[in-house]
Parts: sequence; C-alpha cells; structure tokens
Amino acid sequence: MNASYDTEVLIVGAGPAGLALACSLADAGIRSMVLEQAPLATLVDPPEDGRDIALTHRARRVMTTLGLWERLPADEVAPLKKAHVTSGTSPLVLPFDAQEEGHDALGWLVPNHRIRAACYAGAQARAQWITLQGDARVTALHRDSERATVTLADGRVLSAPLVVAADSRFSSVRKMAGIGARMLDFGRTAIVCRMQHELDHEGVAHECFLRGHTLAILPMAGHQASAVWTVSTDGAEALMQMNEADFAQAVDKEFGHRLGEMKTAGQRHAYPLVAVYAQRFWAARFALIGDAAVGMHPVTAHGYNFGLYGIETLTRELVAARQAGRDLGDVLALQAYSREHQRVTLPIYMGTNAIVKLFTNDQPAAHVLRGAILRVSRHLPPLKTAITRQLTGSGKSPFDVVREGLAALPALPRPPFLSGRH
Ligand SMILES: Cc1cc2nc3c(=O)[nH]c(=O)nc-3n(C[C@H](O)[C@H](O)[C@H](O)COP(=O)(O)OP(=O)(O)OC[C@H]3O[C@@H](n4cnc5c(N)ncnc54)[C@H](O)[C@@H]3O)c2cc1C
Repeated sequence: MNASYDTEVLIVGAGPAGLALACSLADAGIRSMVLEQAPLATLVDPPEDGRDIALTHRARRVMTTLGLWERLPADEVAPLKKAHVTSGTSPLVLPFDAQEEGHDALGWLVPNHRIRAACYAGAQARAQWITLQGDARVTALHRDSERATVTLADGRVLSAPLVVAADSRFSSVRKMAGIGARMLDFGRTAIVCRMQHELDHEGVAHECFLRGHTLAILPMAGHQASAVWTVSTDGAEALMQMNEADFAQAVDKEFGHRLGEMKTAGQRHAYPLVAVYAQRFWAARFALIGDAAVGMHPVTAHGYNFGLYGIETLTRELVAARQAGRDLGDVLALQAYSREHQRVTLPIYMGTNAIVKLFTNDQPAAHVLRGAILRVSRHLPPLKTAITRQLTGSGKSPFDVVREGLAALPALPRPPFLSGRH
C-alpha cells in the first residue's frame, strides 16, 4: 500500500452493508477503515429495531462464506417454508412452497439487530485488516486521479484509493460524489411489531393486501411472528398511539384470528417507506453499496439481500483489478460492479414498485386486476416457480422469465417506414 494512504478502502457507514463489505474485503486481503457517525459502543449490541429480515439462499451463502451466519443465534433464525399472498377479502391464495422446489425453506427470517451484531463481531475479529472508527461523520468528499479523500466532522482528513458509501438510502456521501437517485415516496409507513400467538405458524408467511393497507405476518422462532402493517403515513400515528392490547387485537382481527389469540411481544417501530435507486453505483474512485445504492420497499424483502449480492460482486471485481495489476479505484472494475449490480437489482426494484402501486390502489379497477393477477399466477407454474427459485437462489428471477417470455414472442412485422429500405 502507498504510504500516503490511510488505508486501501474507506467505507462510510457501519450498518450491516458497510461492515459485511469490510469483512469480505479483509478475506480477499484488502485493508479497510469503516467510518461510522455513531459511537462504536452502540454497534456492539444494537438494540432491537423491530425489523425482521428475510434472507435468501444466496444471502445465506454469502454470510456463511464470511463466517457471519454462524454468529447469528441459531434459536433466532426461523425458516420460511411457505408464503401465502392474498388480496382483500378474496378467498384466493397465491401459495409458494419451498418443498415444491426440493428445498426445506424459501429463506430465513432473522432479527435485524442480530445481523448487525454478527457483522460487527465479524469485523472486530478481523482487526488486522479492518479499522473501525466511531464518532466519525463524513462531511466532505474529494477525489482526484491519485486518491479519494474524506473530511470528518471533527476536521480529520483521511484518504485511500477508493471510498465506498454504505451510509443508508438517504446517503449524503452519494450526493457529495455527484450521483443522483430516483426516490419514490410511497406516502406510507410500515409499523412493525413482534407478536406472540397461540397456534403454530408452521413456517408460513402471509402477505395480505387489504383495503387501504397491507398486513404481513412473518413466522419467527417459536410461537412468534413479525407483524408488518403498512398504512398511509397520516394513519400511522393512530396505530402507534394504540395501547398494546388494542393494537394486538387489531392485528388479530385483520389477520382473521388465524393464529389464535395474539399479544404484542415487543415495541412498535415506524418506518416511512421511500424507495431509492441511485443513477449509477460508481464514480471515479467511488462506489455505492447497500441501501445507498438500492433502497427497497420491504414488501419483497430484498434490501439487505441486495446489499450482500453487491458486496460479493464488488469484492470480486476489486480482486480481479488487483490481480491484473490495476489499483483499487480502477474505473473498469467499478463500472463492471455497477453494471452487474444494476442487472440483478433493477428489474426487481421496478417490479416491486409496480406491485406496491397495484396492490395499494383502492380503485375498483385495480381491485379487479389484483384478483385476475392472483388467479393467473396460481395457474402459471413457470411464474410461481421462478419466484420460488429466485428466493432459493436456484434459478432465474421472475422478471427474467417474463422478459424471456416476451422476447420469445414472434417478432411483429416492422412497418415499412422503419425498415430502412426506403
Ligand atoms: C420494515 C423493514 C423491513 C425490512 N425487511 C427486509 C427483509 O425482509 N429483507 C431484506 O433483505 N431487507 C429488509 N429490509 C431492508 C434492510 O433493513 C436494509 O437494506 C439494511 O438494513 C440496510 O443496511 P445498510 O448498511 O445499507 O444501511 P443502514 O443500516 O441504514 O446503515 C447506514 C449507516 O451509515 C451511517 N452513516 C450515515 N451517514 C453517515 C456519515 N455521513 N458518516 C458516517 N456514517 C454515516 C449510519 O449511522 C448507519 O450506521 C427492511 C427494511 C425495513 C425498514
């Protein structure tokens, strides 16, 4: 490493994406420094934040390779065996079943604070490769042909061949790098709360699109489930203000009492829903990762999964650059990462937003269309299989299937004025 650098990669943000990237780079022999605005003490044992994260097979594989999966408390990792999607009061159910694809689980649900603690412990265990800096808020970024430099709120200046921003979907460092982002404010808030219930959930997740709101019931370890109730932002306050018994009763009623009596088993947390997609994931000596690159609506449970996929891709490209004798700020490597991460994430990002718009639209026409989509999907095994395979990481994404299906349609004759022979 050139002596004038402070490290090889400066990572801004010690969330689960920034920390897992540091672990991945360390295992590839690349030194990093993680800059986090919060004090480090808050990262050792992060408080419960109500988010329960559904992880795919690929995400599990990445975490296992990094030794992070084994750091999760085994009794808090819950297999997701089936998923049922319903619309309104229609009895139609769109079912997804892991066993149909020969798997034990579609994915796994893990409390977010356990993932964050595992990532932090993983980074600490690689102290020779990773320097963790708390109380280190990045306030400025400067890049030239030689280096990327950040300035911290306390005036310190640090430099490296590459800066990676993992500083959340509202990333300020992304702006400092001159990268814009599409933002979609859904005007909705997700209220999340851990629930205790009477009956066995049998590992089944339920996504219920109801009039004016959606309710997801996600199976956690034991007789517990994570309730995710998404309402318009002006209606969220009323749900947050309810006393515990009234809130539990409301969830139970909306869910049709299918798991017997319900009680709250944790605090309620409110998350205003804004989806974000950066214009690109790279600039000179700079890359975006995690929510700073792609901030998803949680309904398709992809946010952190995408973070892990991006980490895998970026590490691979940086290692290839180094092996080819190029430096870590290499434009070709960063472009290759950006292209690949966009290829994987953009169709699912667009598809998720389209699903949210359709399934939260209370117009009668949208209601009819929803019913039709559930009916068609039930009888369209390739689409169902594609969604299941996408979760289990054993095949193409549903969007690839649709895209390929459209591409396979016979080409329409081109109008003569487009044929170029005139
Ligand atoms: C209700 C809900 C449910 C979800 N469910 C799922 C799911 O089922 N599956 C899934 O895959 N994902 C899910 N997600 C998404 C997942 O939680 C996020 O993708 C993930 O936590 C993002 O991690 P991150 O490290 O990119 O960002 P963050 O966790 O936001 O971390 C960013 C870090 O950067 C730090 N920072 C910010 N600015 C600066 C600065 N200037 N200088 C230094 N540090 C800075 C912050 O303090 C923070 O520590 C869900 C999200 C929500 C809200």
